[in-house]
Amino acid sequence: MQYNPKDVEEKIQKKWETEKIPEKIINRKEGKKFYLLDGPPYVNASPHVGHIKTTTYKDVWGKFKFMQGFKVWFQPGFDCGGLPIENKVEKKFGIREKKDIYKIGIDKFIEECKKFAIGNEKEWMDMYKKIGAWRGYLAPYLTSENYYRESGWWAVKKIYEKGLLVPGEKPNFWCPHCETVLSGYEVTDAYRELKSPSIFITFKIRDRSEYLLVWTTTPWTLPANVALCVHPNEKYVKVETKGKKIIIAEKRLEFLDELCLKYKILDKFEGKKLDGLKYEPLLDIPLQKELEKTNNAHRIILSIPLMKKRVAGKIKEKKEVEGSDEFGHLVDISTGTGIVHIAPGHGAEDHIIGEYYGLPSPSPVDEQGKLKEETGIFKNLKIDEANKQISDYLESRDLLFYKTELMHSYPVCWRCKTPLIYRKSRQWFLKLGPLKKKILKEINSVKWLPDFVKEQYSNLVQNSPDWSIVRQRFWGIPLPIWICKKCKSLKIISSREELRKKSIEDLPEDFDISVSVVDNIHLKCECGGEMERESGIMDVWFDSGIAPFASLGYPFKNKDLFESLWPVDLIDESQDQIRGWFNSLMICGISIFGEAPYKTICTNGWTLDEKGEKMSKSLGNVIWAKEAYEEIGADVLRLHLCSTNAPWESLNFSLREAKIIKNNLNTLYNLVSFVKSYFKDSNKTVDIKELSDLWLLSKINSLVKEITEDMENFRFHHATRKTMNFIINDFSRIYIKLVRDRAESEEVREVMLYTLKKVLKLLAPFTPFLSEDLYTGLFEKSIHLESWPKVDEDKINKDLEEKFEIGKEISEAINSERQKQNVRLRLPIKRATVFGSPKIKEIVEEIGEIIKILSNLKDIGFKESENVEIKPNFAKIGKKFGDKTREVADLISKMKLDDVKDKIKLGEFELEKEDLIIRQKSLEGTSFSKGYVTLDLTEDEELKEERFLRELIREIQKKRKEEKLNVLDKITLFLEDREFIKKFEENLKKEVGAEKIVYGLKEKKGEVSYKDISLGFGFEKE
Ligand SMILES: [Zn+2]
Ligand SMILES: [Zn+2]
Repeated sequence: MQYNPKDVEEKIQKKWETEKIPEKIINRKEGKKFYLLDGPPYVNASPHVGHIKTTTYKDVWGKFKFMQGFKVWFQPGFDCGGLPIENKVEKKFGIREKKDIYKIGIDKFIEECKKFAIGNEKEWMDMYKKIGAWRGYLAPYLTSENYYRESGWWAVKKIYEKGLLVPGEKPNFWCPHCETVLSGYEVTDAYRELKSPSIFITFKIRDRSEYLLVWTTTPWTLPANVALCVHPNEKYVKVETKGKKIIIAEKRLEFLDELCLKYKILDKFEGKKLDGLKYEPLLDIPLQKELEKTNNAHRIILSIPLMKKRVAGKIKEKKEVEGSDEFGHLVDISTGTGIVHIAPGHGAEDHIIGEYYGLPSPSPVDEQGKLKEETGIFKNLKIDEANKQISDYLESRDLLFYKTELMHSYPVCWRCKTPLIYRKSRQWFLKLGPLKKKILKEINSVKWLPDFVKEQYSNLVQNSPDWSIVRQRFWGIPLPIWICKKCKSLKIISSREELRKKSIEDLPEDFDISVSVVDNIHLKCECGGEMERESGIMDVWFDSGIAPFASLGYPFKNKDLFESLWPVDLIDESQDQIRGWFNSLMICGISIFGEAPYKTICTNGWTLDEKGEKMSKSLGNVIWAKEAYEEIGADVLRLHLCSTNAPWESLNFSLREAKIIKNNLNTLYNLVSFVKSYFKDSNKTVDIKELSDLWLLSKINSLVKEITEDMENFRFHHATRKTMNFIINDFSRIYIKLVRDRAESEEVREVMLYTLKKVLKLLAPFTPFLSEDLYTGLFEKSIHLESWPKVDEDKINKDLEEKFEIGKEISEAINSERQKQNVRLRLPIKRATVFGSPKIKEIVEEIGEIIKILSNLKDIGFKESENVEIKPNFAKIGKKFGDKTREVADLISKMKLDDVKDKIKLGEFELEKEDLIIRQKSLEGTSFSKGYVTLDLTEDEELKEERFLRELIREIQKKRKEEKLNVLDKITLFLEDREFIKKFEENLKKEVGAEKIVYGLKEKKGEVSYKDISLGFGFEKE
């Protein structure tokens, strides 16, 4: 029989629908709560396999916890706010600049955003259902709904009341297209190789005819130049070249050499000698004249060390990267000229050093990235234009020393891909300073899976600047702050009802919380003046940060429900959420509720294409969820995603490999079909005494124990691989073979059903459809309503399991010896002899019968032998133990066979079996980890006849299959009349399903020969 995923999945979908299985699960009333919070994906993209991976992991968690008896909160959510949607609407309307939005009307713009934000979630919900995720059966939360935004208002007020929300002016990344500020972590991932100007310019020292040589790639920031910076301890030189006296760092003379310029060194001194030296403004523009009036501008300052990069200790070990926290001087002497142009209004480091020296920080660039009035002849120029015109200006005044272009990695807007600029603007900040200590403490109370994420996150928190939490945009939660036009006092609104009461205008009860509505609302100030709303919306990361309570509309509705669910028990998302969602959740949780919002965080690795490349639309290598699902079905897809790698590692998604998984599931399908054709579940208890039965019972219970542990620790890859390995090898290959002769016995029925009941449950979270189909076929009930399998400790016999492991090894050694000798497995062998220690003798005596069956032997014997040597595997231990290798090698050479285990402790050293080479000293036979085997290949008359019998059975069965007979169909077997065959009658009848044997051929279906024996046969279906 063939397992057909599509048929199974369709059938089970129907069953779930008619029996309302998902409803029974999502509406469970009893049990301890388990709050599984869905991280809202952007709704306006179609799901690809990476999304399905996250969805699958979350669903596995949900199904597992439900089976453990928890009342799981499965609600899905979608992120409907923010720039991605605004950008789509801009494209639709052909909007080029932000002011075009005002032209078409903000209400119309927002109306269109709303249309884009919702509607697409159906595609996601359908996909959830298709892959069998329970979240597909609940109404999702949408971050653009009024109840959600209202919770956001309540949260903003809470944060404000704690003194954590403050306005301020700081330079920050800014997108001149979207005309909004962007936070540091929004910038981290979006860099592009761009061409930029690279100019070397000369600043004249006041009252001297000497010049400072300075390098910049951003000429547009020169109108805001406030200072020049040198390294205090590096050497600088004064040289004469191109008819000018120029100052440059000694190490950077290289630059002049590269230009093949001749120069004469006139003087040499340390950078600190230049401290305080005044220079003439570079550009003749109003702003520079204004700066000239303050005595704190246009002078040389000394560089200070800054934290440039922090490298976490753990990461260093893990990734084996060299390096430490990078403290570097702002002046980097390895490039440029060693003299740096400082514009505190246009750069993060410039801002820091500007604060340090108390420098002015002009930022003469407007929201669209155009230079402002005070830049005189450069006003209204955009960045590119300004770069060019400023270069030309400098060239015409003989201040341009050298000009070229270079490619470098430049941050761009993560949505519209416009290169970002650094400019100063008025913003609202969530102050992190007062929260950091608490956050760092709470991080320790959270379970991080894998563990190293904890340190990554702690590092990030330590280095985070205040959160710039407002965006100058339209589609999102409007900042609920109103400011008096007259006295500038401020009011924060925390609910719609409050706004309705305080509003000067009449408001309906159910108005939309959107910029277009609230911007028309004014409040009366106590001073008699009128208050209007401070423009801006909340950062989308704030929207997702409040999800634990905003998804429920707390505190305006679901108050009891939220209080019973809080805090979130588990979140499972992609690794980029460490600085994204996990962080914004933590900040919101601590600032509003004073505690960590979650108990367990799981992080998923990337999903790459088959070759390990990042999937991207432009490369055309994206595998869409729909595509993958259509091709391989839900169960195979889920199992592939869970078993290929550790969940936190990158996964190379391969449809080809997924198909191998399908073959394995096919084995399970056939195994259950086989069992089903023989047995029905019954309540009869039987006494289990056979070793093979006891072994399987022990194995399955050990497995349940291990898998439960794996599941709790997010080792989904171990859980699935071990379970599948048990099904494919232990159960369907070994056990079925061992019980062939008593397959219809009560004991075997009992063992098989017992084992299947447990193992199918282990698979249920991973392959919900196939598990359901097979389980209901055997036990009628829905597997998803059953509880997680329990461990029957009394059935675990580790000693027996270990003996079986060695038995399997011996059998494998025998089988490879057979291969060497060219004797097929279906031909019985007279005798195998096992050579080893007395302990092996015990094992051979106890489970010899098992080995005989597995290796098709007539007899098995044992001989004690020390004819085996254990040698160090230098290729392995050399790497592991370095200069201790010799010592370890000596210890290994003293080992006895009985000491060999999977993990070995030798003195202070820990070794694995792979670190040893076990060789027999003689050349005969094949070795296993504790000895070796030889075969007696003599074939006497009796064995010859038996081998003939095996060939005959095989031929008849082949014919049965060709004629499409069922396993249970009985036949009448016709054989040519030969005396020797008669002693095998009973055996033969059983093996080929014959009711009776008739001698004399009616219709010959085939002829079998082995050596000098041959016999014709035929059969008829009964
Ligand atoms: Zn942008
Ligand atoms: Zn006022």
